[in-house]
Amino acid sequence: MILEIKHVSKTYNMAGGTTFKALKDINASFDKGELVSIVGESGSGKSTLMNLIGGLDSSFDGEITYNGENIGEFSEKELVNFHKKSIGFIFQNFNLIPHLSLIDNVAMAMTLSNVDKTVRVERAKKLLTDVGLQDHMTKKPDQISGGQKQRVAIARALMNDPDVIIADEPTGALDSETTDAVLEIIKDIAKRGKLVLMVTHSDRVAAYSSRVVRIDNGAIISDDEQEQLELHANEDEFKGEKPKNLSLWSAIRLAALNMKAKFSRNLLVAIGSSIGIMSVVLMLSLGKGVTSYIKSTMSSYVNPNVTEVHMKAKPTAASSSGSNTPTTASNAQAAQAKEQQTQMAAITGQTGSFAEKDIKKLTNVKHVDSLQKGYTAISLGTNTVSYKGKKASLMQLGTMNSSITKSNITQGSKPGKDGVLLDKTTADTLGKNIVGKKVEIAIVYNEKTIKKTVKVAGIYEASGSSSSSSLVYLNYADLQQLVKDNNEKIEPNVVYLHTNDKANTAGIKAKVKSLGYTGSIQEKMSEMFTQMLDILTDVLTAVAAISLLVSAIMILVVLNISVVERTKEIGVMKALGARRKDIRRIFVSEAFLIGLASGLIGVGVTYVLAFGLNAFSIATFDVTIVKVAASYAFSGILISVLISMFASFLPANRASKLDPVESLRKE
Ligand code: ADP
Repeated sequence: MILEIKHVSKTYNMAGGTTFKALKDINASFDKGELVSIVGESGSGKSTLMNLIGGLDSSFDGEITYNGENIGEFSEKELVNFHKKSIGFIFQNFNLIPHLSLIDNVAMAMTLSNVDKTVRVERAKKLLTDVGLQDHMTKKPDQISGGQKQRVAIARALMNDPDVIIADEPTGALDSETTDAVLEIIKDIAKRGKLVLMVTHSDRVAAYSSRVVRIDNGAIISDDEQEQLELHANEDEFKGEKPKNLSLWSAIRLAALNMKAKFSRNLLVAIGSSIGIMSVVLMLSLGKGVTSYIKSTMSSYVNPNVTEVHMKAKPTAASSSGSNTPTTASNAQAAQAKEQQTQMAAITGQTGSFAEKDIKKLTNVKHVDSLQKGYTAISLGTNTVSYKGKKASLMQLGTMNSSITKSNITQGSKPGKDGVLLDKTTADTLGKNIVGKKVEIAIVYNEKTIKKTVKVAGIYEASGSSSSSSLVYLNYADLQQLVKDNNEKIEPNVVYLHTNDKANTAGIKAKVKSLGYTGSIQEKMSEMFTQMLDILTDVLTAVAAISLLVSAIMILVVLNISVVERTKEIGVMKALGARRKDIRRIFVSEAFLIGLASGLIGVGVTYVLAFGLNAFSIATFDVTIVKVAASYAFSGILISVLISMFASFLPANRASKLDPVESLRKE
């Protein structure tokens, strides 16, 4: 006897603590080659019994043995193997998976066992041919008739060549003609030496079988042998392998097929959740673009071998001498005024002058090969330069230094003794061909106007796209001499440290800072600006990140809907031997694909937007403002996938825990 049922009872626990006894002390045994009709009125307990035999419900009293083994005591793994190898289900409503082709539907039992694709497709084709569907194999279930669907379901049940087939009202949804055809196929299965248990309430159907078991009110009321079947050899020379588990690749493929069936919905979700990824990547890229623009413009002004050093900003002389501060002013006001002056001084470059000990200290900084003194002052128009009655106001006075390179001198050359560089605007004000001409400069120093005739050696132009203000550059030695001639003294207020290897510049800059000096004004401005920009980018990125949360919720909702929609499908998969893990894997794969799609869309759109924005910014400012780093794009996609998979855990888990009996009963 392949199947024995001994004293089996089943009690349902219902809400409110009441119980219902659906099966009462059932005893029966069945052998191979039998086609048994289980007949009874609706509600008599037929399906309940089949669920117990089929291993879909393991909570019952008594014993059901399959080949001598008690299936009530099977572990989860044994049950899964039992479903895969030993039992095949045929349902009244066919329960085919709508988004899979007939071949894929039939092959499912082997897909779950990770049987080689060519092997399983071959077998599915053979079984479909056996039931007369060779011309429809690539169709989807909704493209064939009810009778054809039931043949597909029969082929699916036979896929792993099980010994027992459970058919729950297999012809309940068919008209009488197709009923006969389907019953013939089922009968033939039994003739090949299988045990077929067929639930029905139709006597006409029962007439096909070799034995009829009648159930009423949860008990067997009669068990009659009918005409024995003429058995013939099983031509199905199928050799089952030891079942393995659903492969990750198959899970992804199944997920992809389901997603394809609901393409527009999944596309919308992917687009929706891509917005978050896109905003984050775009914000980061914009921040990076602007920062690197600022850095490159700033650094293009300076010679990479040179470090410009200033004294730390100090309040101007007048306010620093505390005794001069009116005693009426409160300390707080004084402190505020001091602070403001310090800031002003820092911005205008009116920083303190270097004493001999500072110069020494800086000369001794490692890797500094030479030190150049300089003087710079913002004159805001008080200094002038004139030539043949034309006069130009100067905004800035500076001394020649090694950060002025050949590329900054567009006409003429570096000034020698008593020579100066003028910027282009100033030069133009004084007239054409000013290079080589003698001009008079007037400098206000310590409230004294110092005048001197000098030669214009060349025209200075700042590198980068910005224009330089009207300025004059002369040699520090000349300036020193000039001041001395007028009985004044000058101290350098800027120092240029020169190194032969530009690789050392960064180290020198850091050392100078640690010694308590500061860098050039441009450097300070760019530092300030990039700091502000960093904060801004962080804030914008955080705001954008909130939309990632929204996408996570969206994916969670969609997958939950998907679980509800596919409850029946999950029941079928479980009956075919899917483990909880397999079901979970299919849903997580689905989330993975949505995440991947949304990441790719997000990053793709970012590149398109970046291209557009850059085209605009290059046309207007000649600047690339969005820089999409490959690392941003990659992390964007990764984050999208992770968020999506994370959001799928709850629904996937829910799906994996669905009770197959309840799922299959669901309308
Ligand atoms: P049949 O298949 O013969 O129509 P079932 O086996 O489905 O009958 O049901 C037998 C009895 O058990 C019915 O009275 C039904 O209401 C009851 N029943 C079935 N499933 C449940 C359940 N999950 N909880 C409570 N009662 C149930």
